[in-house]
Amino acid sequence: MTDFSMTTDADGVATIIWDVAAKSMNVMSTEAFALLSALVDQALGDAAVKGIILTSGKRDFAGGMDLNVIARMRAGGAQAIFDGVMGMHQVLRKIERAGMDPKTLKGGKPIIAALPGTALGIGLELPLACHRIIAADNPKAKIGLPEIMVGIFPGAGGTTRLVRKMGAMMAAPYLLEGKLSDPKGAKAGGLIDEVVAPEALLARAKEWVLTATDADLVKPWDAKGYKMPGGTPYHPAGFMTFVGASAMVMGKTMGVYPAAKALLAAVYEGALVPFDTALKIEARHFTSVLMNPSSTAMIRSLFINKEALEKGANRPKVPDQTVKKLGVIGAGMMGAGIAYVSALAGIEVVLIDATQEAADKGRAHSEGLLDKGVQRKKVTAEKKAEVLGRITATTDYAALAGCDLIVEAVFEDPKVKAEVTAKVEAVCDGVFATNTSTLPISGLAKASVRPERFIGIHFFSPVDKMNLVEIIRGRETGDVAVAKALDFVRQIRKTPIVVNDARFFYANRCIIPYINEGIRMVAEGVEPALVENAAKLVGMPLGPLQLVDETSIDLGVKIAKATRAAMGDAYPDGAVDEVLFWMADQGRLGKKAGAGFYAYDAAGKREGLWDGLAARFPEAAGQPELGEVQHRLLMAQVLEAVRALEGGVLTDIREGDVGAILGWGFAPWSGGPFGWLDIIGAGRALEICDRLTARHGARFAAPAMLREMAAKGTSFYGAKADAKAA
Ligand code: NAD
Repeated sequence: MTDFSMTTDADGVATIIWDVAAKSMNVMSTEAFALLSALVDQALGDAAVKGIILTSGKRDFAGGMDLNVIARMRAGGAQAIFDGVMGMHQVLRKIERAGMDPKTLKGGKPIIAALPGTALGIGLELPLACHRIIAADNPKAKIGLPEIMVGIFPGAGGTTRLVRKMGAMMAAPYLLEGKLSDPKGAKAGGLIDEVVAPEALLARAKEWVLTATDADLVKPWDAKGYKMPGGTPYHPAGFMTFVGASAMVMGKTMGVYPAAKALLAAVYEGALVPFDTALKIEARHFTSVLMNPSSTAMIRSLFINKEALEKGANRPKVPDQTVKKLGVIGAGMMGAGIAYVSALAGIEVVLIDATQEAADKGRAHSEGLLDKGVQRKKVTAEKKAEVLGRITATTDYAALAGCDLIVEAVFEDPKVKAEVTAKVEAVCDGVFATNTSTLPISGLAKASVRPERFIGIHFFSPVDKMNLVEIIRGRETGDVAVAKALDFVRQIRKTPIVVNDARFFYANRCIIPYINEGIRMVAEGVEPALVENAAKLVGMPLGPLQLVDETSIDLGVKIAKATRAAMGDAYPDGAVDEVLFWMADQGRLGKKAGAGFYAYDAAGKREGLWDGLAARFPEAAGQPELGEVQHRLLMAQVLEAVRALEGGVLTDIREGDVGAILGWGFAPWSGGPFGWLDIIGAGRALEICDRLTARHGARFAAPAMLREMAAKGTSFYGAKADAKAA
């Protein structure tokens, strides 16, 4: 174990260097933590050592905890987690006290953390236990505590220390939202103490160690008369913060994220007791969160598997397909967005539309977004010019010569798409991708003379914000085209899933039944507010009625008509269409029309549910239980995901879960549809399906795969999935 090593110079300054072999980023393991503890003991016990610099041998300081450690801790049960966390607290507390006399607070050795770059999670909690934190002025570095984003919270003293350092109000964005800052921002926000030129980092650290006084080493909370900045819960100012924080967090999370609740409890309860007791409270809440299946599921989908997919877990083994020159046909909403994210990633883009005016408008979309960046000081004028310089807007297909990938985003019309395919293939033999959202890829590929190089690359709107990209393999699509699409998605730093060709692919296939189930309930007389709130209270970002308002009701009508035409008598959604078509007839086409299931003010702001709906679809006298509505809304999506897996559209449950969360915001706390089924268990899922089928019809019939799993007592990820995946 060589994760940490120590040298002491002639002036008596010991430098502990964190450098995990064979990893580009330092991550903390249990063994490494023990080694660090031993080195700190050695330095504190050595009379020749005056103080310690803790730094990294890499470009960055640390990325956080090794997630294998968390998985292993979990396997040992609650007591093992608690004991492990308390062990870490002891070491960090030893660093913080640094050998000082507990009464006089004198005689300690200064310990400074010198951060060359990124410092996340435990990579910041450890520095927070040191006496000073300095960072190199490295604008690429990210500093913060992102744990909450994957369903846990800072559990190595970070929560308790940050709140005591800056007060609950100021700590809230870092703890509750996982806000990350560059070093200058971290200094301004009070996370770190000093920013210096990169080349001066170690010299300045040493200078500080050699000049630090006893008083410099005493943390405010260890000094006499400490008062928490902003006040504790029973202080008049603190009272306001804590009451407000609780309401704000519940409003944002709807109470479905165990980590947010536990974090708040740790902060509140910790603020009422002495520091060491607060650490113990933090450890207890942290233990409860780690034992909650939601944190396992969130870490699995939002961290481990998301990263695995981004690194090409399902990429065919063909040589590098990095895109050098991209053609985008159709400079509308989607094409313009695709051109922007590609140019931003350094790719040369030819953006084509039917008229020069339309092509220029598409390019202007990038200019608008870059201007916003300039205003917010996120983009320099040079960068703007550079990115815009990569986009050529034209009507001339000859400009596509040399493009190794073409993305088509013209009107959703097979005839128009076929014409464009032929025109493109006449001038260029790059991989041809269509951004269609509803037309089967294998059908569109018939217009291609190279169907093995024809593929679907389905972006979500707005392209610059939505991080999922669904890659669709047509019947004849070859491996090179899949690899090209995956390498392209990696270049633009989004997350890919690869699915097989079927009606609506994966994401839309699951989201449409969700919207439909909501609308169907309206037809049955379920109160629209109950439908919308039930969805939000189970962690969906938007209720189904708001969602269809946002995507537009006329699009819903168009899709319904096309689906009915394709399915004939088997079409199951007549009851839904009754509401949808009526809304369209009333001119209530959704948000863009300023009227839909919701009412909107003149500025387009959503006001509340439209009260005119009840005149046509009156609310029934008896209303269903909240749980029943939630099960209908969840199962409508989840069963479709299982059917997609059964039918071979999905080939990897990891893609099903990551795709669901990133694509349409499926209850992130659950880790995705398969994650949710594993949390409740196949047996319970079957019970719910059987009950819903009896009451509401065959669309809730459990797929054979689920029945089999219930009979065998198995799960999607398996008992050891967490450890294996990590
Ligand atoms: P849009 O109407 O905003 O843009 C289409 C553009 O294509 C227009 O600028 C039009 O002038 C251009 N165009 C039409 N025929 C052309 C031709 N023959 N040659 C060159 N350009 C031509 O549409 P959009 O919303 O950007 O959608 C484009 C595609 O992306 C569609 O297939 C759609 O299904 C798909 N899609 C849309 C969304 C969405 O949310 N809007 C999401 C995913 C996928």
